[in-house]
Amino acid sequence: MAIQGDFREHKQMLESLGVEALEVRLPKDLENLKGLIVPGGESTTIGMLAREYGLERAVRERVEEGSLAVWGTCAGAIWLAKEIPEYPDQPRLGVLNIAVQRNAYGRQVESFEEDLQILGLDQPFHAFFIRAPRILHVGEGVKTLARYKEEVVFVQSGKLWASTFHPELSQDTRVHELFVALANE
Ligand code: GLN
Repeated sequence: MAIQGDFREHKQMLESLGVEALEVRLPKDLENLKGLIVPGGESTTIGMLAREYGLERAVRERVEEGSLAVWGTCAGAIWLAKEIPEYPDQPRLGVLNIAVQRNAYGRQVESFEEDLQILGLDQPFHAFFIRAPRILHVGEGVKTLARYKEEVVFVQSGKLWASTFHPELSQDTRVHELFVALANE
């Protein structure tokens, strides 16, 4: 989803895997698409513009149909979340049964790096957190794929994924490979 944020890094990552990647801005861009990555950036901007462009409604339809895998990273994860208790009116897709808190790790540690154990990967994954949200609550039907200390940082519900970190900022393509497999299921 190429409205705002670091979509280019995701696109490069997918292209390095030989996957055809398109920039999605309008509902028509979703045609024939199997997977959608919603990048990190500013979730309020992404949410407002996605609503204005009609993309929010179009993505919701495809998700309800079960015909589109969607992965939100950081701001993208916020866009997917059912609940943002501090900002209940923030425009978003709101289809994934989690509650999130924006910028949850405070000013002094706005950004940090950590090796994570991710379900489905044998070796640890080096993850970058940038003004990351915190997943406060994981609802029914949502599986945890990774934690940082006690915090849930990566979840899955059917064809929906949310990660609070940025796998597109490393050279490690393994998480993108897993997403491509999910989208092709
Ligand atoms: N702090 C941003 C927000 O609330 C998310 C940061 C990011 O995507 N890296 O939208």
